[in-house]
Amino acid sequence: MSKRDWEEECGVFGVYDTSGMIDDAANMSYFGLFALQHRGQESAGIAVNQGGRIICHKDQGLVVEVFDTMTLEMLKGHAAVAHVRYPAAGESGNDSIQPMLIRSRSGHLAISQNGAITNAAEIRERLKAAGAIFQTSADFEVVLSLLARNRITTECIEDAVLQMMAEIKGAYSMVIMSNHKLIGVRDPLGIRPLVLGKKGSCYVLASESCALDAVGAELVRDILPGEVITISSEGVSSRHFVPEKTAHEQGRLCIFEFVYFARPDSVLDGASVYESRINAGRTLAREAPCDCDLVIGAPDSGLAAAMGYALEADLPYGSGLLKNRYVGRTFIQPSQLQREMSVQLKFSVLKSAVKGKRVLIVDDSIVRGTTTRHNIALLRDAGALEVHMRVASPPVCYPCFYGINTPEQKELTAGFSSVEEVRRQIGADSLSYISLDGLKSSTAGILCGHCSSCFDGEFPAGVPNKQKDLIHRIHW
Ligand code: 5GP
Ligand code: MG
Repeated sequence: MSKRDWEEECGVFGVYDTSGMIDDAANMSYFGLFALQHRGQESAGIAVNQGGRIICHKDQGLVVEVFDTMTLEMLKGHAAVAHVRYPAAGESGNDSIQPMLIRSRSGHLAISQNGAITNAAEIRERLKAAGAIFQTSADFEVVLSLLARNRITTECIEDAVLQMMAEIKGAYSMVIMSNHKLIGVRDPLGIRPLVLGKKGSCYVLASESCALDAVGAELVRDILPGEVITISSEGVSSRHFVPEKTAHEQGRLCIFEFVYFARPDSVLDGASVYESRINAGRTLAREAPCDCDLVIGAPDSGLAAAMGYALEADLPYGSGLLKNRYVGRTFIQPSQLQREMSVQLKFSVLKSAVKGKRVLIVDDSIVRGTTTRHNIALLRDAGALEVHMRVASPPVCYPCFYGINTPEQKELTAGFSSVEEVRRQIGADSLSYISLDGLKSSTAGILCGHCSSCFDGEFPAGVPNKQKDLIHRIHW
């Protein structure tokens, strides 16, 4: 995968004790990050406010590798921001680990950001021309630089944030900590998720509600698209970049959060991730029935959809493939060879369960096709008579510019191939995808619309200038 100069999918977390009495923000952040680990395995970090002084510990690795009891002991404080970062080839390095800290004229700032600023390169050039200095190639440094500059002329940090939101484009959720406040920001379209929780006198901000459950906080609500929420010793207050009344219905939450990214026990903008996966499987069964003896899911992300499919079609559901829990997500591997090898380690087949059967395998998505091709071959080698493939999302035809780590268009299996060509490439007897309308309707109860740019090529928050001519429209 080639190097990309924008940020990848991540998890953010923030906590603020309004009483100022509890100095346990780092421990809470540790548990919160642990629950968000699926959103990023490359690096982790926690910055705490220790009586007005911000200190930070961050490093490459999983949350358990980066923090130990002693480190957490030293990070005492009543407020914190924290971050886990998704691996992106060529971009690893200590520079781009979050949270990032700066000391500006108006005090200390620490930021954790998820998403991508599509016009970051242009803003960076503008700021450089005016004398700004940058240490990293990351979006969040541009954000901090804008904030520090705006803060010189504004009354409060929130005004500086709103001014920054007028300048940046893209999809983001951010948790920003100043000397006296914790601020949550969600992009005007709400493409990236952010939720508010409460536990006693502590307020918590997190990418997903599963992180609230992990620290025993209750879900208060989703941060609205375009909302700037402030938590301080005075309590909670909000400012809005887009009209509050219509913010949710005009929002476009990333549909891939439901397909793959979010944890099944999370609830985002009113919709349960698990339920939506079951529903998608049910819809898929109605749209693309199959004559088979056994329905299995591709572990783990395809299991809920497979269950939904089997329920709706009244077919036997079982296990056919097992996943080794100790292998990380395969996209970590930068080269195709390494990726193929880790796929081999990752999955094994239950021979007795699939031998002599017509097997239907359901997965949440096909991105590069590497995993899918491998799994279908495994099932055939184990004696499956037929292997049919059903996918609980439409063909991924376009790269994501809003923070999901999908490859460039030419590396996407469906980027330039028809469904029949993909079927041949992955070696399935039949292949069908859910329709986009079917997928959208699976997120029952959702309070906002969807961003489905990876499926339909409509980029509601724009495309980075450099990429504009590289996107090839696909009609199918
Ligand atoms: P493929 O056949 O495209 O190699 O792999 C398909 C599998 O990749 C699916 O099971 C899906 O759950 C998973 N997948 C989808 N998006 C991502 C992603 O952003 N990162 C990783 N690691 N896996 C993904
Ligand atoms: Mg999967």
